[in-house]
Parts: sequence; structure tokens; C-alpha cells
Amino acid sequence: MKEQLNHPVFKMLAAVAAQNNSEAYVIGGYVRDLFLHRPSKDIDIVVLGNGIEFAEAVGKQLKTKVAVFKNFGTAMLKYKDLEIEFVGARKESYRADSRKPIVENGTIKDDQLRRDFTINALAISLNEANYGALVDPFGGVADLDERLIKTPLDPEITFSDDPLRMMRAIRFASQLNFNIDEAALKAISKQKDRVAILSKERITDELNKIILSPIPSVGFNYLFDTGLLEIIFPQMANLYGVEVINGKGHKDNFYHTLQVLDNIALHTNDLWLRWAAILHDIAKPATKRFEEGHGWTFHGHEDRGARMVPQIFTQLKLPMNEKMKYVQKLVQLHLRPIVLAQEVVTDSAVRRLLFDAGEDIESLMTLCNADVTTKNEYKVKKYRNNFELVKQKLKDVEERDKIRNWQPPISGNDIMNYFGLGAGKEVGLIKNAIREAILEGEIKNSYDEAVQFMLKKAEEYGLRPKE
Ligand code: ATP
Repeated sequence: MKEQLNHPVFKMLAAVAAQNNSEAYVIGGYVRDLFLHRPSKDIDIVVLGNGIEFAEAVGKQLKTKVAVFKNFGTAMLKYKDLEIEFVGARKESYRADSRKPIVENGTIKDDQLRRDFTINALAISLNEANYGALVDPFGGVADLDERLIKTPLDPEITFSDDPLRMMRAIRFASQLNFNIDEAALKAISKQKDRVAILSKERITDELNKIILSPIPSVGFNYLFDTGLLEIIFPQMANLYGVEVINGKGHKDNFYHTLQVLDNIALHTNDLWLRWAAILHDIAKPATKRFEEGHGWTFHGHEDRGARMVPQIFTQLKLPMNEKMKYVQKLVQLHLRPIVLAQEVVTDSAVRRLLFDAGEDIESLMTLCNADVTTKNEYKVKKYRNNFELVKQKLKDVEERDKIRNWQPPISGNDIMNYFGLGAGKEVGLIKNAIREAILEGEIKNSYDEAVQFMLKKAEEYGLRPKE
């Protein structure tokens, strides 16, 4: 492994270890990522003895500040673009009611044993006697080769001690496209209720990492199959299943949603656009009806779904800010381009879509493309062609009419001034009528035409311009 530790910082760490007569190892994610050829900037160093003293010696050598976290017995420093964390080797034991272990000093093996997964328990020596030697007592490298998430200890104990590890197991499986070892998987199913002692924020943190992984369905399938999804995000688990009446079934909305999510993951790394994919059909179970002679319908699932978004964001402690509004808007509008693609595309329908989607029109089109999951090649082709038409039309209309981020040429204030009115019903009615007339293409998007139209409308309400 010597040649792998090619960053000069490791030689320097080794020199400090030799000077101080202490033993030090690189451990955890950095070593795992060396094997996986994933570049990493976070280095964890474990020291036999006092991690803080060691960090201070390193800080002196590098002439850099050391942040000490006395309560945790850890210290951290930044060196160039690296973040290096130091900790003394520990032996940990747990009680039933807490994620906080009882900690005592330990050997390197004790410290590796407290790590969550074999692939995260790899260490490389920084000591003179065997600099660069891999220390792998639990077969971590073999598990990397087999693409397996496995715990060093009995998985039941590992997950019960710290239930966050269940979420981490699934998150790593999803990020790395690994399998979870069978015994570990069984243990997660058995211990799933232990997630109750975790904070919502920690769970959602892991959930977001799963969502951002290259093939998020890997993680979601594990979440669902172990029963964790039902606990942490029941609305999504509720999408699962197919009901059949009179021999007619509908598609399974859970697997459809996963497919949409995997599709969109090929086109965007934006967490919130991926969230929109997860939530686009979230209200299908609540709006499902079987209509005689017609089959299954989900009328209004986009409205109902949009209304569920703030509630789900609150529940999952996701931010209640413009990100939520963005997801809500995409859920609300997700059927619109599809409807357009099925009909003859009129300019007014395109203008309306541009007006409603504004800045987010590209996101919406990305979502709608991802939403095409039919296996029927003919239908896929047809949809894709129609989408291209809609896209072209969107471009033409936008170039001509500049509807995106558009405000009608006459504001409510203008109307009040023109007719000497206070705020009231008529002002709103006239304002909306002007907007509608422009979107429908009855009048041009110009101040003059809008004024003419306003005067005509005002007359209907018996209003006259102020002298
Ligand atoms: P990433 O940076 O991608 O999240 P990482 O493995 O570096 O990966 P960290 O959360 O920074 O993840 O953890 C660093 C190391 O600490 C892990 O590799 C693992 O050895 C150990 N570790 C972290 N959390 C736990 C836990 N809950 N239980 C046991 N060991 C853990």
C-alpha cells in the first residue's frame, strides 16, 4: 500500500509518530476510497494513545491551527485542501437506550472493531517498522472485491448499538452499488424499529445521500424490503402495490417512481429535482378510483400531491423554503407537458405553461422526460418526439413573447391609478382578464393593447378613467 500513500502529508505524519514514539494509522473512508479509486479529501488518523496530543504535534510541525474537541477526544486540522481528523484508538461498549457508547482506550484492532462495516475498518500503518502495511483483520479488502457491505461484529449487535448504521449500510450500498450481506440485511429487518432513537435530521441526511447516489433505486429497494421505508417515509412505501378490479390492474406506483428517480438521476445531480421525481405521484394512492367502463384513474393527484409536499418536508425536517416551493411547483405541474405532448400544441397552451413554470421550465421538462417509463417502444418514441415538439414550441414562443418570468404590462396599481379606485374586487378581475387575454393570444403582449383591452373591460364594470 506504500505507493498509495503518495501524498507528502503521510510521510510527515509518520515522522511525527516516530518522534513521539507513538503508533498511528490512516483508517476508515480514506483507505476504502483509495481501493475504490475515489479521490477523498478527508483523512482519519487513529493514534494508539492520545489523539489530541498527536494532533497538536502535527499542528506545530505544519504551523497550522488545531481545533480540539475535548468532549469527543478528537482534534482536527486543515492542511492545503485536506481535512485531517485525529482520534485515540478506542474500545466501545453500548447501553440499550442510547447511541452514545462507553469509551476506553484500546488497541488498533479494538478501534477497527468499533467501525460500522468491514470496508470502513481498513487501516494503513504510518509506523517506521511497517510503513504502508495494510491492517485488515476483518476481510475488508475481500468485501470490497465482492462489493459487499458487511459488519465486523455480529450485525444484530452492530445495528442495535447504533441504529444509524442501518441507514449507513443502505446508503453505502446505494452510493457504491454494493450488496448488503445477507445476515446484515436480516438484522436490519429485525432491528428496524430501533431507528426511533435517531433524530429525524440524521435519518434525512442519509436519505438525501441515497437520493443523490448514481442509482438511487438500489438504496430505496433496500429501504423498502427491510421495512425501514414504512417507518421513516410511509407515504412513499404506500405507493407500493397493484389493485385489480374486473381483471384490470394499474401500474405499481412505487416501482414506477423508482424508475423515474433512476431516469432523472442520469440527467441531474440536483437534490431537489430528484425529490420532485420521488414526490410526483405521491398522491396516487389517495386519489385512486376505479371507474366502471373506464378503469383506474388518479384525478387530481397533482393538486393533492402538491398539497402533501409541505407536510412531508416538515415531517422529514427538510427545509421549508424556496426548495420546498420548487418541489411543490414541479409536482403540481408534472402532467402539463405530457398533456401538451398528447394534443395539438397551441401557442396559448405553451404560453400558459411558460407562465406557470417560469424559471423552472427546464426542470419540469427533465422531470416529464424521466416520467416516461412505458416498456412499449412505440409509445416511448411517440412521447419523446412529441416532447421535442413541445420543447421547440416552448423555444419559439419564448423567443417571441418572452413569457418566462413575465409580468403583465399593467399592474394592479396601474389599474387603481387609472380609474381612481381603491384595492377591491374589480382591480383583481381586470388584472386577471388582461393576463388571460395575453396568454390566450387575444391581444399582443404590449402596453398599448393592454390599455385598450383594460378600458373595454372596465366599461363592463361601469368604470371610467379618472379625469
Ligand atoms: P463518507 O465521507 O462518504 O460519508 P466515510 O466512511 O468517510 O464516508 P464518515 O461518516 O466520515 O464516513 O466516517 C468516517 C469513518 O468513521 C467511517 O469510515 C467508519 O469507519 C467510522 N464510522 C462513522 N460512523 C460510524 C458509525 N455510526 N458506527 C461505526 N463507525 C462509524
